[in-house]
Amino acid sequence: MNFLESVHKFYDSASSHLAIPEGLVSQIKAPDCVYHLRFPIKLDNGQIKVVNAWHCQHSNHKNPLKGGIRFSNLVDEEEVTALATLMTFKCALVDVPFAGGKGGVRIDTKDFSRTEIERITRRYSFELYKRNSLGPNSYVPSTDYGTTSREMSWIFDTYKTLSNDAVDSAGSVTSKNISQGGIRGRVEATGKGVYIGLRVLLDDKEEMKKISLEPGIKDKKIIIQGFGNVGYHSALFLKEAGAKIIGICEYNGSIYNPDGLNPEKVKKHLQNGKSILEYPNCTVFDDPYHVFYLDCDILLPAALEEQINKENMKKINAKIIAEGANGPLTYEADQYLSKNSVLILPDLFLNSGGVIVSYFEWLKNLNHVRFGRIMGDNSAKKDIDEIHFVNRALEDTMSAAFNSMKNKRKELGYQISLRESAYKVAIEKIATIYEEMGIFP
Ligand code: NAD
Repeated sequence: MNFLESVHKFYDSASSHLAIPEGLVSQIKAPDCVYHLRFPIKLDNGQIKVVNAWHCQHSNHKNPLKGGIRFSNLVDEEEVTALATLMTFKCALVDVPFAGGKGGVRIDTKDFSRTEIERITRRYSFELYKRNSLGPNSYVPSTDYGTTSREMSWIFDTYKTLSNDAVDSAGSVTSKNISQGGIRGRVEATGKGVYIGLRVLLDDKEEMKKISLEPGIKDKKIIIQGFGNVGYHSALFLKEAGAKIIGICEYNGSIYNPDGLNPEKVKKHLQNGKSILEYPNCTVFDDPYHVFYLDCDILLPAALEEQINKENMKKINAKIIAEGANGPLTYEADQYLSKNSVLILPDLFLNSGGVIVSYFEWLKNLNHVRFGRIMGDNSAKKDIDEIHFVNRALEDTMSAAFNSMKNKRKELGYQISLRESAYKVAIEKIATIYEEMGIFP
């Protein structure tokens, strides 16, 4: 089952016993529209390259739509649709007043220069703008696989130039650099959210008893797949809290050290242009999946979807799977592992830190004032206030979402997975919005 089919299957099983009219169940599931865009860019050597890109608006029950822009050579219509669909349910679960959208450009960033990537980003932004699909009240993108604050700042500048909206244009995109109206704490927000979500779960004695794991984060053995924005920041916070990062898998190899790896040193090594295969004081494998299958308490996929599927699900040796990435488990793998007492912390909840803090950034941009600003205060204090606010609000939002998943289970009076309860909570909230606003005739 592929990514989109899996998302649909999760949705179908979660919605099947809810008291929602059948037509509404179909409306909430299907994307409102998907664009397939093709545009030319000029490469540095003067040649012309045609780029394929997509944009999905999954739902308009709330506006604006929110969801990252992905640059990867695996992007296609189904992937972008699946990611936009997840965004709709994620926003509903964590009470962020957006609906799901997503963007994807089919390029491998390693094949292009910085200036070529800038031209691609600006042209893609222009194509969205032309279709009324970019702006503070339509679609507000953010970072995803293959994109960073750098691309978001180019999107902002493109939007500002085209819209001539000097006042609210910063609200057209989030995860911008701080100098462009970004918010402190957004770069690490998804990883921090992964840490908060895992900590809340590990502190839950009832949940830990079910999988015979000692409560608490300290000394938990963790293996991470994908050492980009989500993987690296998750590793930082988890290690700081006392966990051991015993393995890291990248696209070209994996490394293992049962005494624990230092995330900052690994990152520095990679940023210096060296391969993970050259990392010292650990066992190195040129198979990216070798370490993925080793014994650990927590396996944290933070790269791409469908990483655990029908073919490899029996090789997994973890007690908890923490979905840092979107859709890392196919439906079959989710069913098989859940039946075999593996606890799965679902993407809808676990990687929501990014969209939660993006919401704060959007509010900051539209309010034209940074959180915690106090008249006459000095600037150092103001910076502390903003990050303090962001961290506190992220904690509160994620803890509330975890409780809502657990409460849904209690309310139903029978055991369902955390994923199923996350979907049910989200679907019911969206259905109420549709029922109370009616359907445009
Ligand atoms: P990223 O581009 O910063 O990092 C991804 C990393 O995965 C890269 O280092 C890449 O080399 C590595 N990788 C690729 N293929 C791999 C493989 N087969 N095995 C091991 N590593 C591999 O991307 P990101 O922003 O960290 O996003 C990762 C996942 O998290 C995606 O599913 C994304 O949708 C999801 N996510 C990201 C955010 C965010 O704020 N960035 C928010 C929510 C969810």
